[in-house]
Amino acid sequence: MEKETLLLPAFDPVEDGETIALAGRILREGGIAAIPTETVYGLAGNALDPEATKKIYAAKGRPSDNPLIVHIAELAEWSPLVAELPEEALVLAKRYWPGPLTIILPKSPLVPDSTSGGLPTVAVRMPENPVALAVIRAAGVPLAAPSANRSGSPSPTTWQHCADDLMGRVEAILQSADCQVGVESTVLSLCQRDMDGKILPRLLRPGAVTLEQLRETLGEVLVDRGVLEQLEAGEKALSPGMKYKHYAPAAEVILLEGGTLPYRAWLREHAQPGDWAICFEEDLPLEAVPARSYGRKADHAAQAQKLFLLLRELDRLEAKRIFVHSPQRDGVGLAVYNRLARAAAFRVVELSGAGE
Ligand code: AMP
Ligand code: MG
Repeated sequence: MEKETLLLPAFDPVEDGETIALAGRILREGGIAAIPTETVYGLAGNALDPEATKKIYAAKGRPSDNPLIVHIAELAEWSPLVAELPEEALVLAKRYWPGPLTIILPKSPLVPDSTSGGLPTVAVRMPENPVALAVIRAAGVPLAAPSANRSGSPSPTTWQHCADDLMGRVEAILQSADCQVGVESTVLSLCQRDMDGKILPRLLRPGAVTLEQLRETLGEVLVDRGVLEQLEAGEKALSPGMKYKHYAPAAEVILLEGGTLPYRAWLREHAQPGDWAICFEEDLPLEAVPARSYGRKADHAAQAQKLFLLLRELDRLEAKRIFVHSPQRDGVGLAVYNRLARAAAFRVVELSGAGE
């Protein structure tokens, strides 16, 4: 069913106060709207209204057992959503909120099953983007907001991406700046405890708040197996989003791990018409294939910011295969690697052993 989709300019929380107020009203009345955040654009709806969350799943074409992150604008909105608010959670919020960190805790009865994907837990985040905060305040309710893409396609980092995927499927799309982080938030679960009752924090999805930062803040942090490896068929995913093919463009993505020289040599040997490369600045020029750089090798922030944008661009250019020079896995690089490994369905070629 085609809806009329309003395009609402919302670049500045004050100057665009009127359109933000309108977006808030649409959301409060049960509509859904694409909104900017610092990570990726989110498809927002009232997190406490099962009808609104149903609309989100339908617009995205997303399986309804995949839970949604609840976005809040004030710390005081957190405790009604959760069954408990342990010290560790408060320490994290103090350090990293507002910002790209999502914290999972046992949920309160206020959170509908349709928001938690039937899980007894709820994921909550306070975004940093001032327009996002203004929209949440204007709505007056916590907002469930998964990435504003059709399920299976790369997450949107510009309002035009949202329009490409969701025109006619949502009540409004906010036209705002490009996302600064470019990959989705870090997801950390605080739901597991050891025999002494001590919380065992577990990283379910890497993002711009890094594993190193979380360990510095909390001490030990476990890394869920789904972050770096493909889960076996039928294996239970702690973070249900991890079991779906995700972040994937239409082209086949292949990750190549190794130095510039073996990367170039491998491309010379294997590239065919229709192939493209996403490489580091230092790899250019690449003679064997047309290429886009996603930043310098050490600049993980640039790589994160450009990744989804480039995957969408190469889809538009009808790339058949994309050979991506794999980022290192420290800092924000772990998040970039995780998204790429999933887009590549874990097809990773280790160049040092590839007979160069
Ligand atoms: P998205 O909102 O599209 O960025 O995806 C949200 C991610 O958070 C997905 O990978 C979900 O599986 C994960 N998530 C949300 N809520 C929970 C939860 N209660 N338990 C585990 N993972 C969750
Ligand atoms: Mg998503």
